[in-house]
Amino acid sequence: MTLKKEEKQSLIDLANEARRRAYVPYSNYPVGAALRTKSGRLYTGVNIENAAYPQTMCAERVAIFKAVSDGEMEFEVIAVVTNNGGSPCGGCRQVMAEFGLDTIVLFADGKGNLTKETTVHELLPEAFTPKHLVTEKSRQAKGKTQVKKPVVPCVRVCLFAAVYSQP
Ligand SMILES: [Zn+2]
Repeated sequence: MTLKKEEKQSLIDLANEARRRAYVPYSNYPVGAALRTKSGRLYTGVNIENAAYPQTMCAERVAIFKAVSDGEMEFEVIAVVTNNGGSPCGGCRQVMAEFGLDTIVLFADGKGNLTKETTVHELLPEAFTPKHLVTEKSRQAKGKTQVKKPVVPCVRVCLFAAVYSQP
């Protein structure tokens, strides 16, 4: 899909506005995200830091998780705004990939200028997605090839036979 210039700008502006609410006392690197679903709903997110650093959450994931918790799982575009047009981290790319590789990703700087337009697929080539997670159970449910259980010889019986078959 192609986005009109005004559509991109309004998402960037929404993300940039949200960015003001970022909770970043440690990095002082506020990030804002604005996500538009295929049904047309909008979700914003900001990065939220924590004194226990690893508990910090990125703006992109906050927006995506808000959408998913509302039952929205098909996304069209996400705009990400940072001071300097920085790109989403690897963890966020993986979370985006879960919900579709075709989602458009816009990067913008703090002045609201679009610095890059790309897709999740371009950001995370060879992504590990739900289709790769084929388990034995799901294969059987689909009625495809059932893997036979390997025949494990009973060691005790074999040893018994070996011992008592001696002449
Ligand atoms: Zn991230």
